[in-house]
Amino acid sequence: MTGLTGPFTETTVSGCGEINPLQNDPSHRSIGVGTRVLLNGAPGYIMGKGTRASPDKPNVSAYADMKGMDPTMMGGMITAHGPECLTSLAVPIPVLDEEILSGLKILDRNVPLPVSDINGRNAHSKVNYGHIWGENTDKVIRVDKEKCLHHPDCAAVRTCPTEAISNNFDINRNLCINCGTCTLQCPEGVFRARLGSIEIAEGTIPVSLRQSDRARGERLCTMFKNRILKQEFVPTKMLEPL
Ligand code: SF4
Repeated sequence: MTGLTGPFTETTVSGCGEINPLQNDPSHRSIGVGTRVLLNGAPGYIMGKGTRASPDKPNVSAYADMKGMDPTMMGGMITAHGPECLTSLAVPIPVLDEEILSGLKILDRNVPLPVSDINGRNAHSKVNYGHIWGENTDKVIRVDKEKCLHHPDCAAVRTCPTEAISNNFDINRNLCINCGTCTLQCPEGVFRARLGSIEIAEGTIPVSLRQSDRARGERLCTMFKNRILKQEFVPTKMLEPL
C-alpha cells in the first residue's frame, strides 16, 4: 500500500484487455439482463448495467449465491485510498456469426485504455492494453529467494496490498493478485516482473500497480471452458438487452 507520486511519474491500471467480455461482445448481443454467468466462480446472472456504467466505460451488475463462490476467484486489497473489492466474471459468448467472431478475436493492442488524472479522474488521453499485457510484460511475479537478505522490516511484505508475502518471503499464490507492488519495493530484486508502461505526450510513464490479474483471468477462462464442455454450466439466452 503506497500512494502514487506525481506528476507523470507512475500509473496504476485496471482491466483485462482482450479477455474482457464487454470488449469481446461490444454490441452486447450475448450480454444482457438474465444472461447466465460465473461470478467469482459461482453460477449467477447479469442483473443490468453497473452503477457507474457509461457508453465509454460499460460495466454490469451481477448476482450469484456467495456460498458457491471460489475464494481464489475473489478477494480484496488495501490501497492508499481505501479498500478495493476484487471480483471475477465469466460470460459465455456463443459464436453465431462473423460479427461475434471478430469481437472474440480482438487483441490487447486494439483495446483502448483511457488515461485519467487521479485528481478528479479527468480524461487525459487514450493508449491501449498492448502496453499492459503485451509480450514485453510479465503477467506473473517471479521470486528469486536466493537474493533475499531476510530484512526484518521488508518493504515488500509491508506494502503488499493482499498480505500475500509470508515471513519466509514466499508468495501465497492464492492471495497474490500479481499487482507488482513488491517488484518495486524490494531493492535486492527478489520479486521480479516487467509491469509495462504507457506512452503519453508528457513521456513514458511506468506502471507501478496493476489492479487486475490477467493471469487469474486466463485461468478462469480455461476453468469456464471446461465446465461448459462437461455440461456443468449451461448458457442461457438473455431476457432483455442491457
Ligand atoms: S504481486 Fe502479489 S505478492 Fe507482490 S505485492 Fe502484489 S499481491 Fe503482494
